[in-house]
Amino acid sequence: MIELSDLTKRYGAKTAVEGLTFSVRPGVVTGFLGPNGAGKSTTMRMMLGLDHPTDGEVRIDGRRYAELRDPLTFIGALLEARSVHPGRTAYHHLQCLAQSNGIPTRRIDEVLDLVGLTAVARKRPKGFSLGMGQRLGIASAMLGDPRILMFDEPVNGLDPEGIHWIRNLMKRLAAEGRTVFVSSHLMSEMALTAEHLVVIGRGRLLADTSMARFIEEN
Ligand code: ADP
Ligand code: ADP
Repeated sequence: MIELSDLTKRYGAKTAVEGLTFSVRPGVVTGFLGPNGAGKSTTMRMMLGLDHPTDGEVRIDGRRYAELRDPLTFIGALLEARSVHPGRTAYHHLQCLAQSNGIPTRRIDEVLDLVGLTAVARKRPKGFSLGMGQRLGIASAMLGDPRILMFDEPVNGLDPEGIHWIRNLMKRLAAEGRTVFVSSHLMSEMALTAEHLVVIGRGRLLADTSMARFIEEN
């Protein structure tokens, strides 16, 4: 479970996120909807401990990010700007991540299998399609077998097959009892993916409701 309370982020005079209070529960996919520039990425970066709030806080299973002992076993993320070392094979990329986080090597084969990249594990990701790059990003996020997964605009630019695959994966992860939080600027995408919906606009909370109720009322 992730709890945000009064989360605020300012960049100089510009307020990116203002007083966000909501929680994300395990067991269902929670969608995070808002137009471009609404503050979704800024919020997710703070939820991941990658950015400091100007005000307010984020708690993960009751703890602040800095208090988590093995962060990758708590929370995994697929962010929009990912960097993969161009000289490393997919396997090597995962191996480095596993080593620096004390994750057993056998997890590498498990996550490669989970995302369907076993056959190209010895290839360099620079030759990968966008969809394969996303799969490698998801393999990285899953490496620590985290209870919480966050996906920032994961289906942008993917073909229908890739979109379908990611959508089903997120639903499966939630059905396993994990907390899954996914952002999109498209309501049509959220409606097909999420059971619960958090909506923001101009950095402020606009709705926090079940998808069924949101559709009924809008
Ligand atoms: P409430 O009845 O407390 O107002 P809602 O109507 O907002 O709850 O939510 C409807 C369903 O969504 C309930 O089953 C509730 O447990 C679930 N739910 C509520 N908030 C969240 C959340 N942040 N993440 C996931 N599921 C949630
Ligand atoms: P979204 O992910 O919903 O598209 P963002 O979180 O990326 O929105 O951006 C929210 C707002 O904060 C935008 O107006 C953006 O220009 C601004 N912003 C984001 N990061 C920075 C930054 N590092 N410096 C200044 N402004 C920023």
